[in-house]
Amino acid sequence: MKTLTQSGLVLRQVPLPRLLALGGAMIAMSLTDGIGLVLLVPMLELLSQGTSESMISEMMTRGASWLGLPLNLGLLVGLFVALVGVRSGLQILRDRLAFSVNALAVDNLRLSCLRGLMGARWHWLVNRKRSDHAALVTLEISRIGGGIQALVSLVATSFGLAAYMIAAFAISPAMSGLTLATGMVIYLSLYRVRRRAVLLGSDLLNANKSMMATVERSLWGLKLAKILGTEERHLKDLHDTMASVRETQLTFNASNALTRAFWQFLGAVLLGLYVMAGVYWLKVDLPVLIALVFAFSRMLPGLMALQQSVNQWLHTVPLIDNVQQFLDESRIAADRPIGSAEPIRIINRSVRLDHVTLAYDSRPEPSIHDVSLVIPARATTAIMGPSGAGKSTLADILVGLLGPDSGTLSVDDLVIGPQEQRNWMRSVAYIPQDVTLYHDTVRRNLLWGAPGASDADIDAALSRAAAEFVHDLPNGLDTMVGDGGALLSGGERQRLAIARALLRKVPMLVLDEATSALDVENEARIHDALAGLHGELTIVMIGHRLPMLELADQIIEMKAGQIVSQSPGPRTRIRSDR
Ligand code: ADP
Repeated sequence: MKTLTQSGLVLRQVPLPRLLALGGAMIAMSLTDGIGLVLLVPMLELLSQGTSESMISEMMTRGASWLGLPLNLGLLVGLFVALVGVRSGLQILRDRLAFSVNALAVDNLRLSCLRGLMGARWHWLVNRKRSDHAALVTLEISRIGGGIQALVSLVATSFGLAAYMIAAFAISPAMSGLTLATGMVIYLSLYRVRRRAVLLGSDLLNANKSMMATVERSLWGLKLAKILGTEERHLKDLHDTMASVRETQLTFNASNALTRAFWQFLGAVLLGLYVMAGVYWLKVDLPVLIALVFAFSRMLPGLMALQQSVNQWLHTVPLIDNVQQFLDESRIAADRPIGSAEPIRIINRSVRLDHVTLAYDSRPEPSIHDVSLVIPARATTAIMGPSGAGKSTLADILVGLLGPDSGTLSVDDLVIGPQEQRNWMRSVAYIPQDVTLYHDTVRRNLLWGAPGASDADIDAALSRAAAEFVHDLPNGLDTMVGDGGALLSGGERQRLAIARALLRKVPMLVLDEATSALDVENEARIHDALAGLHGELTIVMIGHRLPMLELADQIIEMKAGQIVSQSPGPRTRIRSDR
């Protein structure tokens, strides 16, 4: 029953007409198989005795004479050849449809998972493992593709077997009944083999997850591995997790091979028994017996393939369970849609936090506790405090990434509740400690947030962000920035991120420790950029060093998730001194 639900999740990814067309092609192919088998009986009778006597032959003679044709060998061979031609055409159609159903199901499942990730609340995402997500959208979905292939061939083989079985029943009900009964008993007795396939599938899922985590740790930690000299340890970890994946896969393949060998041997024994039973017990005619032996010898590989496909499909079931669970959870964790709201372009008075508290799921004590704060519009606010004081968490709340557990974030008179959160998120620019740049050109990186911006807009934004260095790059705006912006310095990446924010024409800029890791020259350039934007944008600087503080209109100090002091900054003082 559960496997039916899993098939449902996969099949829902494909448009119904395409599924019906595939089912239709499969049924039509099976019909040609069945009819071909039935045609064998009169053909063999005509060849062996010169006449056709069986019930099937009688019916066919009547049918032929109704069409005004004699039932001779020529007509039967002609019909047979025509059937083979039709079957070949149907096979091409079925294979094409099967491929497109498989590809569509895999693509749509992958898209659904990515959509689930993209649409989920940050609060939910930060508590999950990134390597699990990578395994989900790459390895697991690809393996589900293999399972879907097995499901399609399972259905196709079942149709084929059913057609042969119906034809065999038409030829000799007694012998076919005997075959069906023994076949059913054997299939049911293989229950444990199928159960094992599911268990091995679940083992493989876990082994693959840990392999992905090891690969990711090695890739992300390349630099650290070199510094610490732990390259060999990474390789050993990967070697061990791969061995575990390989072992599970080998056990599954061995179990499959054993089942195949079992079926082959059992098939030969059964076929021998059927022939003996047909000749000595049921006393069937030779042409009927030959046709049936032909049918059963075709059905045996079919039965084997069926068992293999069932195993393969069951092996995939834990993966589909995992996808289903992820989709359900991400649906519950989904952000509210943005809707038709326009981004907020102007902050008139202030951005406020009122009695905001937030705790992460994985730790009971709140990381931000009852914080109230007013960030005046077009002023620069610096938030200071030791590491772990809650500054980054506060920044995430200010930009709408995290919704507070209690208390409110408001912009002028608008309370940013769950409905408004996503719209607010796209109305502000957040420059984190590690700026994300894509492995692309400077221009395309800048245009991500503002696809319609012209070169003149870009030049203006670069100049305001003190990022004119772009013009000195080998290919100017068309220079590739490397993976994650690796070909640029930290300061250059941050200035590009500021330019990207300016292109989006956001009213507020939040910089999280943006200059903490910079050299003096780069820090001075960012200082210039922020000085130029002072009084124009609402700026929040988190954890900045002294030179930056001279830009601040107010300085907030945090400790253990709370605000411990709030004072006017040098800018305010300079202004009031004048
Ligand atoms: P700061 O930016 O001042 O260094 P953070 O806002 O990063 O401080 O962290 C505040 C507290 O919240 C710390 O105790 C930190 O360990 C905890 N914290 C931060 N992020 C998470 C998270 N994703 N899950 C659980 N705890 C977290």
